[in-house]
Amino acid sequence: MDRQQELEFAMSAVAQAARLAVAVQHDLAPHDALAKQDRSPVTVADYGVQALISYSLKNAFPNDPLMGEESSDELHSDAGKSVVEKVIERVTSVETKINANEVMPLIDRASHVGGRAQRFWTLDPIDGTKGFLRREQYAIALALIEDGKVVAGVLGCPNLPASNNSTASGCLLAASKGCGAQIRSLEGGDLRVIHTRKIKNVAEAIVCESVESGHSDHSSSAQVGNRLGVTSDPVRIDSQCKYAVVARGDADIYLRLPTRPGYQERIWDHAAGMIVVTEAGGVVTDVNGKPLDFSKGSTLSENSGVIATSGAIHEQVVNVVKDVLG
Ligand code: AMP
Ligand code: MG
Repeated sequence: MDRQQELEFAMSAVAQAARLAVAVQHDLAPHDALAKQDRSPVTVADYGVQALISYSLKNAFPNDPLMGEESSDELHSDAGKSVVEKVIERVTSVETKINANEVMPLIDRASHVGGRAQRFWTLDPIDGTKGFLRREQYAIALALIEDGKVVAGVLGCPNLPASNNSTASGCLLAASKGCGAQIRSLEGGDLRVIHTRKIKNVAEAIVCESVESGHSDHSSSAQVGNRLGVTSDPVRIDSQCKYAVVARGDADIYLRLPTRPGYQERIWDHAAGMIVVTEAGGVVTDVNGKPLDFSKGSTLSENSGVIATSGAIHEQVVNVVKDVLG
């Protein structure tokens, strides 16, 4: 099954929603963000993208449920009222077929709990919200999960150029199980097959990690780099853009080392990125070398942290990580 229809839907839904994200980031205002219960930020763009993709999915695959990161809960607070108006304005200007009163129900339609029972999609509408607010990297990440396994994924990266000599600003990466990974400019154009980079010596590796030290342990990753003989400084990028740069061979290792025991990675933070890297020839596991298990609901409760590499070096990297983390 090549899931071409699903991939085409996901690419066009993500590309359309990226237009909203780009517009919001372009004229970002202080009241465009709210704090969620866990104190993490959420913006007009997070809600707007989720509403748009929820609408596209409802039309393209009406029986497929969606698990999105956001719910409209915070929007019912006093601070939420002005955000609601902005979300409605942005969503209805990108997709004129959506009525104002449909927007909140579309956001909340994305409340699927996951598991194995039924195929479903998972969405991080703005992955790397902190990067989005700094006007740096972020990604729109949409993936299809069947029987607990990721079978297709699309990453829209509005601030990551499609290639070093590209004049267009953003790129879109797409992959489906067994069919490889591809990239194109976010605005459209031809898809190009991508592969991870093959390096002879792990010391040549370029390592990437989160900008936020609260999301990945920077001091342990520095030790891992030292033990591998890596000489270059780690590249810090927000969001699943890290998976994108490994998939297209601009980096070789993505380390996400736990900052505290008990944190469970969210499936929408990894599903699309993982299939893009593995279809490009890379390998993705947790810090113990275990495959990521997407069948357990909204979190990767059977895993700890994440390691993504270009492929051949994976075991060597996992062994050093295990050593460093004890
Ligand atoms: P990044 O941009 O790679 O740093 O990842 C952003 C994602 O980190 C957000 O979408 C959150 O879901 C996730 N996150 C929040 N807290 C933590 C944590 N303590 N450890 C790992 N990831 C986290
Ligand atoms: Mg995220």
